[in-house]
Amino acid sequence: MCQVGEDYGEPAPGEPTPAPRPSRERKCVKCKEAQPVVVIRAGDAFCRDCFKAFYVHKFRAMLGKNRLIFPGEKVLLAWSGGPSSSSMVWQVLEQVHKSEAVSRGLSQDSAKRLRFVPGVIFVDEGAAFGKSLEERSKTLAEVKPILQATGLPWHVVALEEVFSLPPSVLRCSAQEPAGSEGAYKAAVNSFLQQQHVLGAGGGPGPTQGKEQPPQPRLDPQSLASPPAAAQPEALSQLFCSVRTLTAKEELLQTLRTHLILHMARAHGYSKVMTGDSCTRLAIKLMTNLALGRGAFLAWDTGFSDERHGDVVVVRPMRDHTLKEVAFYNRLFSVPSVFTPAVDTKAPEKASIHRLMEAFILRLQTQFPSTVSTVYRTSEKLVKAPRDGPAAGDSSPCCLLCMCALDVDAADSATAFGAQTSRLSQMQSPTSLTETRTPPGPCCSPGVGRVQGCGQGACRREDPQACIEEQLCYSCRVNMKDLPSLDPLPPYIRAEAQLRTHRAWVLQEIRDCLIEDSDDEAGQS
Ligand SMILES: [Zn+2]
Ligand SMILES: [Zn+2]
Repeated sequence: MCQVGEDYGEPAPGEPTPAPRPSRERKCVKCKEAQPVVVIRAGDAFCRDCFKAFYVHKFRAMLGKNRLIFPGEKVLLAWSGGPSSSSMVWQVLEQVHKSEAVSRGLSQDSAKRLRFVPGVIFVDEGAAFGKSLEERSKTLAEVKPILQATGLPWHVVALEEVFSLPPSVLRCSAQEPAGSEGAYKAAVNSFLQQQHVLGAGGGPGPTQGKEQPPQPRLDPQSLASPPAAAQPEALSQLFCSVRTLTAKEELLQTLRTHLILHMARAHGYSKVMTGDSCTRLAIKLMTNLALGRGAFLAWDTGFSDERHGDVVVVRPMRDHTLKEVAFYNRLFSVPSVFTPAVDTKAPEKASIHRLMEAFILRLQTQFPSTVSTVYRTSEKLVKAPRDGPAAGDSSPCCLLCMCALDVDAADSATAFGAQTSRLSQMQSPTSLTETRTPPGPCCSPGVGRVQGCGQGACRREDPQACIEEQLCYSCRVNMKDLPSLDPLPPYIRAEAQLRTHRAWVLQEIRDCLIEDSDDEAGQS
């Protein structure tokens, strides 16, 4: 877990490997001097200082190993108020303070510091649980002083603001995030040079964010319309209509992700950090497996998640267990805020999420390597390569979770495969008409193609079907627990219709092109 020799991090705490010691002696396993205060695993007793070094090193090593965050890059920390994400924010702050010391010349170690520009976002989900305005403002009264104390730019958004999101949030950007080793080194070098020119202390370090005034609200330009008073009502109605807790949980995560993604884009953040601990990710892996998201596990639980293209989600806490997080937060007084989740106080079998959580945590108490075993598995998952730039944004992605739909035309066993087909793989215009996916204007007056009509092919007018056909398997199953898709925020419906329309137009154009090229072939 704690690897020695990453040049990004500090020297690994405790050079020689500690021999297993009899627990009688009660000394720290690292420095072998101080009194241990924390026992992480059996035999691993740490003193306060060594535990801190161990914890901080893990965080830095995770970022350093992956080399994904470029110097000067704006990074949005998604803070839920919970222990892990609070710890993450405090880890970043720790680095920021160190960087200040570096830029003042107090440390020689400048090449090894984090140099990104952090900001924090808190999403107020109260309306989804039907919380009263009083209760919500009470939570915010706890949240805001903590945000202010970070000294970073911060954003508080209410979840109901998803009702004002533009449909473009759901567009996967074709842009490939730059991430090669060479590009990273070049960026670090140019950053260091820049700093050198500006002189010590004047560089655009992470402290830069401090001068920005906090932005407590969404800036009005970034949203289609200002948040209306009816929105909390609409959101709570939407969540009330969902029949199962499992679907509620998934919907909440989906909407939250869309909102954070929008905020990140609107404020120029190219990375979003989430505080998923390895315990949380192990639970998520098993949950998502059960939810039919097996194909997307590598995105859902990996260190980085590039599904959105331009904004990459990063999980730097994925090496920390919940236990370590709890110890650290208590020892170093990291503040957190309790915000109820959808399944707070819900019985164990109320949702797949709750059930899997209870299962993993109970197993963990009996078999302490449970979480790490599941987690190691998640590390080995390989992401299917994104379609090349040629495919661009034409490669379909799920309307809600935005994962690339693995559409294989002919012999797919999935429902999607049965309904969709890749036109590029088709040869003759005859097969085109047979398998044409996007519903043609068969109902429009004056158009001759009638054969598909009446068998559900005529979906352009039906928004519900129009949304459904653009979902992955798992999202489809979840949406079945919504009696109606009408209460969904408008941007989802709008984008679904736009995509259907675009697919139909594209189809029409392709028909023409194929006919044209046939003509040309005949002429030449
Ligand atoms: Zn020690
Ligand atoms: Zn999906």
